[in-house]
Amino acid sequence: MKAQVRCTNWNHGHANVTVRYCSMCGEVVNKNIAAKECSLEAHAKRRRNQSKYCVDCGEQLIGER
Ligand SMILES: [Zn+2]
Ligand SMILES: [Zn+2]
Repeated sequence: MKAQVRCTNWNHGHANVTVRYCSMCGEVVNKNIAAKECSLEAHAKRRRNQSKYCVDCGEQLIGER
């Protein structure tokens, strides 16, 4: 099993994050927020913003799966 690298994204340190998933590691940072279904357009936009993972549905957007 691969060792979990500690993610440095600011989302992890905050209690009131407004997104469900971390954009850097795809982990759930706020489980109280429901996962959303995203359009391809929304994902294309996030990809352009260099988000590795979608903050709404947790899907990996950049890099290999
Ligand atoms: Zn993270
Ligand atoms: Zn998404």
